[in-house]
Amino acid sequence: MSEKLDTILAAARKHASDVISPNVAAWNAARKWPRDASDQAGAAGLTGLYAPEELGGQGLPLSEGIQVYEQLGQGDGAYAFALSMHNICTYAGCGYGTQAFKDKWARDLTSGRKLANFALTEPQSGSDPMTMYTRARINGDGTWTINGSKAWVSLATEADVYFTVVKTSDAPGHKDMAMIAIPADAPGVSFGAIYDTPSYSFLPMAEMYLTDVVVSEDNIILPVGQGLQGSLMAIDIARVSIASGCCGLMQAALDTALSYSKNRKMFGGKTLDLDGIQWMLGEVATDLEVSKLLYRKAAAALGTPEGPLMAAHAKRFVPDAALRAANTCTQVLGGMGLLQPYGLDRLSRLAQMLRIVDGTTEISRVVIGRALQKRAASLPDLPVPKGFGEAETKAAPIAAQ
Ligand SMILES: Cc1cc2nc3c(=O)[nH]c(=O)nc-3n(C[C@H](O)[C@H](O)[C@H](O)COP(=O)(O)OP(=O)(O)OC[C@H]3O[C@@H](n4cnc5c(N)ncnc54)[C@H](O)[C@@H]3O)c2cc1C
Repeated sequence: MSEKLDTILAAARKHASDVISPNVAAWNAARKWPRDASDQAGAAGLTGLYAPEELGGQGLPLSEGIQVYEQLGQGDGAYAFALSMHNICTYAGCGYGTQAFKDKWARDLTSGRKLANFALTEPQSGSDPMTMYTRARINGDGTWTINGSKAWVSLATEADVYFTVVKTSDAPGHKDMAMIAIPADAPGVSFGAIYDTPSYSFLPMAEMYLTDVVVSEDNIILPVGQGLQGSLMAIDIARVSIASGCCGLMQAALDTALSYSKNRKMFGGKTLDLDGIQWMLGEVATDLEVSKLLYRKAAAALGTPEGPLMAAHAKRFVPDAALRAANTCTQVLGGMGLLQPYGLDRLSRLAQMLRIVDGTTEISRVVIGRALQKRAASLPDLPVPKGFGEAETKAAPIAAQ
């Protein structure tokens, strides 16, 4: 492990234990994004993970920086998710943005002074982004005028800039898609009511309405033709980041179950002395080890031809494993597992949320299924065992009535 990664992971661990864990219940009660906490994350170097050092970032490769969410996820999965989206946008802006965009935004984003998020989903299009309605008209002076609405925008009303995917014509397909950074204070940007979510109410999510929003061409992040491909790359990074955060969630659930069951007296011993309980927690521990190996392998594959498939494997397996872990650990505590202070019920709900966001478990299966079909096509046909299918099957003539 590089010295720099070591330092960043230690900072993330400290942020989770000192800032997130002790405060997340209060954040949820207040139903407000903890800006002071994300400011502290910025000061700790957690908001510009993959951005180059000359722009104030950490310059970590994706394969390393993604491990930060494993640490943050021990504090809270939704908080880890929001910072992961900010980091992906910052990476895109610092890597693919125009020089003017970098001059204006890069240092504010890498330092966490300003926050960014991604807006792709629309009310009628989630898993199938090709059906999006948001349109950008490219004006004679190079500016873009954008109209449409996005849904499930995380950090709604809180982020300072939204990396928004748009179509630039009515032609079907993705060849006209682009990504443009829309500042929150651009005239014509507004938000719907904040969604009512049960277990991560500090993360504001809402629809974002774009009415004749005019944005300079300086804000183009991915030009026409690259919007979908670039978004899919961003989503692959997000999928692996979510798997990393889920490992933190599993560790938090397991540690809670261990801390409780080692002291809970029953049948002349402790809960943790029971074989059945050890087996349940043993399965969680194995799933956790497998999940770590899987997301790290997927992180190493990002940017290679294997990246999308590996990201799909990680996103399919790890959030499911996290949900099983949270439920199992709740069961180990018996009734106490349902009480608010232990937070296990919240972990189950977070794991379920992480099964949906940035491509559902089913969409991951679709990606894996397609790869399997491709592999099948490249394999030789199996010889048919003797005695099978030798007689040519012909439709038997229908007997005349
Ligand atoms: C907490 C949270 C935060 C989010 N933040 C953002 C954000 O910041 N920016 C953003 O752009 N989006 C965001 N999203 C949106 C998220 O990415 C979508 O919710 C997700 O892609 C699924 O889309 P959908 O909700 O419209 O479900 P739908 O697409 O309507 O899917 C409904 C069901 O159909 C299933 N399904 C779809 N296709 C298939 C198939 N081919 N085979 C089998 N089953 C299928 C799905 O798996 C799902 O179970 C967020 C979502 C959540 C929950």
